[in-house]
Amino acid sequence: MTGSYWNAAAETATPEVVRELHFRKLKAQIAYLWNFSPFYREKLEHADLVPNRLRSLDDLSLFPFTEKHELRESQLAEPPLGRHRACPADAVRRIYSTSGTTGRPTYIGLTAQDINGWKEAALRAFWTAGLRPGAIVPIVVSPFVVAASYADAFETIGTCIPVGVNMTDRLIDAFRFAKADSLLCTSSYPLHFAAALIQRGIDPRTLGLKRIFAGGEPGASIPSVRKQIEDCFDCRILEVSGNGDYSGMAWAECEHRRGMHFVAQGLIHPELIDPESGNSIDIEAGAQGELVCTSLDRECIPLLRFRTRDHVIVTQTDCACGRTGFGIRIIGRTDDMLIIRGVNVYPSAVRDVIASFSPETNGMMEIQLSAAPPQGWEPPLQIKVETTGQNDVENVRLKAAIETSLRDKLIFRAEITLVPVGTLPRYEYKAKLVKKCYEE
Ligand SMILES: [Zn+2]
Repeated sequence: MTGSYWNAAAETATPEVVRELHFRKLKAQIAYLWNFSPFYREKLEHADLVPNRLRSLDDLSLFPFTEKHELRESQLAEPPLGRHRACPADAVRRIYSTSGTTGRPTYIGLTAQDINGWKEAALRAFWTAGLRPGAIVPIVVSPFVVAASYADAFETIGTCIPVGVNMTDRLIDAFRFAKADSLLCTSSYPLHFAAALIQRGIDPRTLGLKRIFAGGEPGASIPSVRKQIEDCFDCRILEVSGNGDYSGMAWAECEHRRGMHFVAQGLIHPELIDPESGNSIDIEAGAQGELVCTSLDRECIPLLRFRTRDHVIVTQTDCACGRTGFGIRIIGRTDDMLIIRGVNVYPSAVRDVIASFSPETNGMMEIQLSAAPPQGWEPPLQIKVETTGQNDVENVRLKAAIETSLRDKLIFRAEITLVPVGTLPRYEYKAKLVKKCYEE
């Protein structure tokens, strides 16, 4: 730990040093998979590859991807951790289960070394986002599979107060009586929390909340949403991100907030690919693609070229803070993507456009799919939007303005229905942006 960085050597290493380190670690990781993971041994043999084929870091693009459904099938075949487990069963120290948003849960095992690696990445990330000794941080992300690795980091730097979700009063107590000053939560939670405070007659600005670490979904990076949260609590919000599969935490914004820095140097190797062709995309400012991550020194379930399904845009490759890890913003997930007359549309991008009409809208919206695709995805797409306005004339203008903006920015036709604030369902964990109004 040196002032601005948790691990200056890793976070400010030149790209050449990082490439050299990653190549060396990758060679060892692939040899380890070949020797100890039946799943990967088969996968490599099937692709006619041997570990020695990796002669440079660029050769990684020859190696096959790992898809989430393969991990699920591997665990069905050999529960609980699957045929991809590479360490002895008695070396597993922690097992996380994912929330299983799409079907049955998957399990993620960690050895003692894996736990340390996740903790190191979390320490770098939260330090980047401004966590400092003395901070007292309630965490309300219990559905997150990786909350324990965040707690490890908070306990190393400051003080952690675990609070379950749906425990609003307990969370308020953490600020009032335990003098909490920060908060770790999902991006959609702060406004939900603010509404709960106001309902109890508490001004959010009197709470003492100074810093929010938000992640788990796009949202904290939308300027209008960010401003609304910061004004409401008189605080600063920074975005952090990780994933239960490849690393609990790996990305974080610094004070300059030009996208989330990659901070897991030496632990995972990130790539960008075209989701359709699978071809590699060079990492440079403005590049967009799907994030693919490879473990570099994991023991229990190392993942080779894991397709995260997160679509990201590279925001910068040189930041005034001195960190050399490139910056990203997550713009959506392939799983959520709607294809409207051949145009890819992310619900989170629709929300961004609607949120830009703040304060006339509060950013709450729900896309209503009337039928299964392709019929249900035919334009005009029906979207409900909460409005703060009472005036019919103003609402007619707002409806037209949002429809025009969606057509201009996202190239699809929408029909907006304005509804009063509080109409759409609230979720304490993650906002749901799409409602399927039909039987699947
Ligand atoms: Zn920076």
